[in-house]
Amino acid sequence: MRRAKKPSTSTATRKAAGAAILAWEDDPQSGGKPIKRPVPRLARVPLALTITAAAVPAKVYRPGTREFRYWAAAEALRRGADFWGGLLPRGTSWQPGRTLRVTLDAGVDLNAYYDRHGLSFFHDTVGRITVYSGESPDVLCHELGHAVLDALRPELWDAMSVEVAAFHESFGDLSALLAGLQLPSLRRAVLSETGARIGRSSRLSRLAEQLGWALRQILPGSAEPDCLRNAVNPFFYRAPETLPPSGPASSLTAEPHSFSRVFTGGWFEALAGMLASRGSSPTEADLGQVSLDAGRLLVDAIPAAPIVADYLSQVAAHLIESEAVLFRGQYRDALKSALVRRGILSLQAASVVPGPGTATRARQPRGATLAGGSTETHTRRLSLSADQFGLEGRALVVEAPGEVRRFEVASAAEGLGSRTAPPPEQDARRFVEYLFRRGRVDLGAHGRAETRIAHPFARKTHQLVPQAADFALVRRTFDCGFDPTS
Ligand SMILES: [Zn+2]
Repeated sequence: MRRAKKPSTSTATRKAAGAAILAWEDDPQSGGKPIKRPVPRLARVPLALTITAAAVPAKVYRPGTREFRYWAAAEALRRGADFWGGLLPRGTSWQPGRTLRVTLDAGVDLNAYYDRHGLSFFHDTVGRITVYSGESPDVLCHELGHAVLDALRPELWDAMSVEVAAFHESFGDLSALLAGLQLPSLRRAVLSETGARIGRSSRLSRLAEQLGWALRQILPGSAEPDCLRNAVNPFFYRAPETLPPSGPASSLTAEPHSFSRVFTGGWFEALAGMLASRGSSPTEADLGQVSLDAGRLLVDAIPAAPIVADYLSQVAAHLIESEAVLFRGQYRDALKSALVRRGILSLQAASVVPGPGTATRARQPRGATLAGGSTETHTRRLSLSADQFGLEGRALVVEAPGEVRRFEVASAAEGLGSRTAPPPEQDARRFVEYLFRRGRVDLGAHGRAETRIAHPFARKTHQLVPQAADFALVRRTFDCGFDPTS
């Protein structure tokens, strides 16, 4: 595993040494107070960052000021990027290039997104309170997580699949949780709040309290009662095709942010189990170590997990395999138990995931030639008729989740046994229909006005790109998921 190299000290950084700024540990509304932190160096590699606004001198500023928000955001982003930068394979860089651009206030909206240009955050006034999505470390490190996952596994970006999109959202939440756990003060606070049983709801598990509050004022039920999403939740896996496309936060739907809670909940339960497996009274240092180990597992497992319709079960099986290779069974029971209890892996599947040895030998580098001479393709290009979307006579070219499986595993069925995953074509078709139904596709000027369904007020995550006589349907952003209609 590579460690980040120490940057060379310039005059400016020497001057800043010893200086401090004020920052939030997790969310402005988590109940915590701002803490003093060393001045973050955004341009540090790996995973360099830059904030597009004019630089603000590094000092202690009063909360509520633009200057405070600038440094609180810089500190959270650098903390998240340092965490992932210490774990990613050597040479991993952002998809947009060497430095990730961050716009802390791109205008009036209750939103935040990652596109392949950078991260964007917004502000809006609800009641008399102005909420800045770029002030919350939870929101900042969630969006940063999308950029990290895009660097680690870029093939996920365009894959047309609910489970793949939901995993991207879950990874954003895991990124926020893990970035929070890099602060000794927050680790102590969480151990104290939960009596060292971190699987209980706490400031750590509650993500984006302030943005959640703002969304609930606008549309009751659009966020959980005490935050945007809580990593401690009771959701059991359901086949996404059996779920409605939208619904209140109290129920599980096929909307990717909603569905992401199944994986996040299972992963968080596993994290709590990993900590408990280190002894009955784990320390702040134990929690720090477990957060690093959990990050290592994700970074090891994700590149090897094939993109298929039941993607969560493949990620789960690869996490178990990675655990066997990296930690030799230390965390196996904690991991397997949580994944089975949530139905992410069926009982039958969890009992057959092989341990080290055979699994290590079976692992294929990405793009490798499989036995039989066929070349692995990451996803499968598919052409769908666009007639039903008001674009007569045209085809939509999409990426279906059609990689070759390494483990024959599955998630749980609602009744007994394992779920049968849909073929990649069917999964892609469903996700495309979901996107059009919810108005998530920017049609541009394409299609006849009489037949096309443009949804002028819904947020766009995808767009049509003309390709000869047809269209490619490609992703534009991962956004915060709020679906405004007013
Ligand atoms: Zn997201």
